[in-house]
Amino acid sequence: MAGCEPDETERSTAQTRLTDVRARMAAAARIAGRAPGDTCLIAVSKTHDAKAVAPLLAGGHRVFGENRVQEAADKWPPLRAAVPGIALHLIGQLQSNKADEAVALFDAIHSVDRPSLVAALARAMDKAGKRPPCFVQVNIGDEAQKGGVATQALGALLAEARAAALPVAGLMCLPPAGVEPAPYFALLAKFARDHGLASLSMGMSGDYETAVTLGATHVRVGSALFGHRQ
Ligand SMILES: *Cc1c(COP(=O)(O)O)cnc(C)c1O
Repeated sequence: MAGCEPDETERSTAQTRLTDVRARMAAAARIAGRAPGDTCLIAVSKTHDAKAVAPLLAGGHRVFGENRVQEAADKWPPLRAAVPGIALHLIGQLQSNKADEAVALFDAIHSVDRPSLVAALARAMDKAGKRPPCFVQVNIGDEAQKGGVATQALGALLAEARAAALPVAGLMCLPPAGVEPAPYFALLAKFARDHGLASLSMGMSGDYETAVTLGATHVRVGSALFGHRQ
């Protein structure tokens, strides 16, 4: 349909990037003795419109990440109506008053970081009868100004989440910028093991291969797939 299909250049660029990221993930998995299928690629489409997403959908990709509820609510319902099997992950900070909307819209939530949000999500899930898996976001470098629960408060927050019957699948982190991320990924993996959690959401465009070698089950890749954001 005129104006609705990505043009050929856009399509081939996006498909080349997708193929490249998948190949790099597979190579990293082999190094670590993991299977390529052990890590889910979340294509982070924040700031990119439906037209930018179309080539990836055409290439068969179905798992996407957004960091804002409102942007996702504007962008994805029409795409979902047109394409079956789309899974949407919320990777950005979530306000408690948007918990209902987030539970309705998303298939996984990566940014659980405080007791008030645990309670709001648990209530929203009870109301909706839908229980998308959650990740507890850890401030793995214990940085001021950074999202995520402080490392020494992680145990207590996980206990609250269990008490509220929140379906916690694993842990998520954004390591400090500008330093080698591997020690932080390894530390997140250790915390997950200590708490008996199977899933690890870690690794972005600059470091997803390292994250895969250290056990990432979900990588969140934006600019390596879509180009730079404005
Ligand atoms: C934007 C974002 C990403 C993707 O970042 P890129 O560097 O573009 O791959 C991953 N995780 C979170 C939490 C983000 O906000």
